[in-house]
Amino acid sequence: MKVYFRGKIIEDNDAKISIRTNSFHYGTAIFEGIRAYYNKDSDTMYGLFVKEHYQRLLRNIKVLNMNINESLEELIEITKQLVLINQHKEDVYIRPIVYFADEAISPKLVGYSAEIAIFTLPLGNYIDTDDGIKTKIASWTRLKDNMIPPMLKIAGAYVNSALAKTEALKAGADEAIVLNQDGNIAEGSAENIFIVRNNTLITPSLSDDILEGITRHAIKTIAKDLNINVEERSISRTELYIADEIFLCGTGAQISPVVEVDGIKINTGKPGPITNQIKQIYFDAVKGKIEKYTNWLTPIIDKNH
Ligand code: PMP
Repeated sequence: MKVYFRGKIIEDNDAKISIRTNSFHYGTAIFEGIRAYYNKDSDTMYGLFVKEHYQRLLRNIKVLNMNINESLEELIEITKQLVLINQHKEDVYIRPIVYFADEAISPKLVGYSAEIAIFTLPLGNYIDTDDGIKTKIASWTRLKDNMIPPMLKIAGAYVNSALAKTEALKAGADEAIVLNQDGNIAEGSAENIFIVRNNTLITPSLSDDILEGITRHAIKTIAKDLNINVEERSISRTELYIADEIFLCGTGAQISPVVEVDGIKINTGKPGPITNQIKQIYFDAVKGKIEKYTNWLTPIIDKNH
């Protein structure tokens, strides 16, 4: 496997960082998670929202006082090259990470220089997308914007996600749902959340301490095209238990129906019709099967382009 490291595409085994690396100690790295989907029938491979993920990364690194040499266009091109060179003919996950490479002690964001590394790995379903998953409300609270901003994909912030997810797994659930400091629903450990009540889709707003998810945005687009009403507002824990449908969404998670929260069955305990409808459209769209959503895709293998 090849990776992008210090401005070059090189062998994975040659891409090493020192144990003295500043960001390794303080969690001051910002990463992204991008997917590329392989369609066996048409032998095509498309990156999903590649530009949007790198735009988010370039916007977000500013907050940690980071700068990288690569432009948006270069990052997209490097990513295409990497997936091609690694000869992936399967669904892949692409992980860019920007970090302070300096071998220096002190948790600060000035006086250091940032670098980007990018690697790819085959990735099927990260969590179940068919039968529905069991979730647990975490006893860990989501970070607030004035602690570690949840709007940025900061490496160190994922300690919060890891604690929540581990607690859920140990309790026999598949995934955690995390509340914010007000006790309202924020998101999953690494997914945004939607509920359905009376045929309306509801998702927490940006002021509820969530990541501004790219899949969340895509789902709002699908819903609008289906004439399904979408509300962005705070959701209480109780409203979750009595929702008609719930699903989690994210680049890794894709769309994952939630059929149980804290041992309470959601509606019939089966994935609901609106969730299934949106899921079907999403999975067709990411494989290039829906014309109006092809602007979501970056062709990586496509004989027609
Ligand atoms: N929330 C968190 C905390 C995440 O880590 C992710 C995954 N990136 C998401 C939501 C979903 O975001 P996206 O749809 O942009 O992948």
